[in-house]
Parts: sequence; structure tokens; C-alpha cells
Amino acid sequence: MEEMGRVLILSDVHANLAALEAVLSHAEAGGPIEEIWCLGDMVGYGPQPRECLARLRELGAICLVGNHDLAAIGQISTQDFNPAAAAAARWTQSQLTSEEKEYLSSLEEVIVKGPFTMVHGTLRWPIWEYLYSHEAARAHLERQKTPFSLVGHTHIPMLVVEEPNLPEGCQLFYLPDGLNVTLESFRRLVINPGGVGQPRDGDPRASYAIYDSERGTVTVHRVEYDIARTQRLMAQAGLPRWLIERLSVGR
Ligand code: ZN
Repeated sequence: MEEMGRVLILSDVHANLAALEAVLSHAEAGGPIEEIWCLGDMVGYGPQPRECLARLRELGAICLVGNHDLAAIGQISTQDFNPAAAAAARWTQSQLTSEEKEYLSSLEEVIVKGPFTMVHGTLRWPIWEYLYSHEAARAHLERQKTPFSLVGHTHIPMLVVEEPNLPEGCQLFYLPDGLNVTLESFRRLVINPGGVGQPRDGDPRASYAIYDSERGTVTVHRVEYDIARTQRLMAQAGLPRWLIERLSVGR
């Protein structure tokens, strides 16, 4: 595989431009970024879907499609969404231009880049499945043909290590801020960088990861951003109150 340098791994930006900008500045302060990989759900929930899409596209980010992106273009029904998420999806749909919808509909569910397979949910159900359990992790790993994979969707930074000798087949770990995961090709791994725009692990700070190809590591970073700014814009847009409030607590 060619040397890539530092790759910025994002997921679940969710139309939260303040969080995205904070993540971009923080990542750039750590050194040059060669590529940006974005694991889906660029829009939905947040107040600035158009601005977030424009920013990611201008940076040449490689983006996957997530369930909220498909809901925003009417390609999946919001029946399985909670009422607040469904209301936000309808609002998002009303904001996007047809060109932006075309862009979202052109995105892939699964992309392979070097030793990584990327997908929003899991390789079993790319759009919908949350990788929370050992069972889901095993089903995902069975379909993973590369040593490493990257998933989003849960908005929780996490590491799965395949352990064929254990009855569960793998171990699941929460990934704290700053911990370096060393990539060794004899152990298959799944990494979730956490959510940029709507963290759900009780830490309201935006979450992202850096893949450093020279060091062979992936590291999660947490960044404070102007939560109140995003909340103000959400209130102005008339987005549901629960979605506004949850940003303060990261749940
Ligand atoms: Zn999401």
C-alpha cells in the first residue's frame, strides 16, 4: 500500500458545522492531512446540512452513505426513525437542492481503501445495523476481507478485536481520547471513530480519528466546539427540542 501520511476519519457529522470546523482545525493543527474519509450521516439532526456537504466536498472527502443521508433524499422511509429524527429528516429534505440530493444518492455503502473496509453500519446490514454486540461484530468480521475496518452509526468511539480463541469470537472496547490503536495485520480490528456532530457516549465533545500510516496507528481525538451556536441554529430552524438538548450532554 502506498504511503498516505495522516488520514482524517470522520463519521456522523449530522449537519453540525461548528463541530465539523472544530474537528478540521484540531486535526490540521496536528500535521498535514492527506485524505479525509467520512463514514456517512453527513446530514440529518443538525441545522447546516448544505454547509457541511459543501465543506466536505470542497475538501475532497471520500464519503459513504448513511441512513440519515438516504432519509434526506427520500430513498428510505423514516418509519423506523424516532419522531424527532423523522421530523429532522423532513426538514433536511426541504433544505437540500436537487444537486445535493444527487450527490448523496451517488455515494457508496461500502468502500475499500488499502487495508481498510469502510461502512456506515455493519458489513451485514450496511445502512441500518448498529455494531454494539459481540454477535453483530462477529457477523461483520465474517464479511470483512481486509485486516481492518471502519464503521460509524453508533456515535460511540469503539474498538473490536477479533479473538478466534474466545467463545464470543471478539472483544469490544470503548476508545478513550488519545489512545493509540496499533494496527497489526495478524489481528483483525474494527474501529469506530465516534460521532462528529452528535456524540452519544456521555462526552459532548466532537469525536474523530486519525489514521497515521507511517506509525501504523489509529487514534481517537475529542474536541470542544461551540455547542450553543449549533443549538441556536437548530432552534431557529424549528428542529425538535430533544435533539437540541442532547448535544449538551452527549447522549
Ligand atoms: Zn448517525
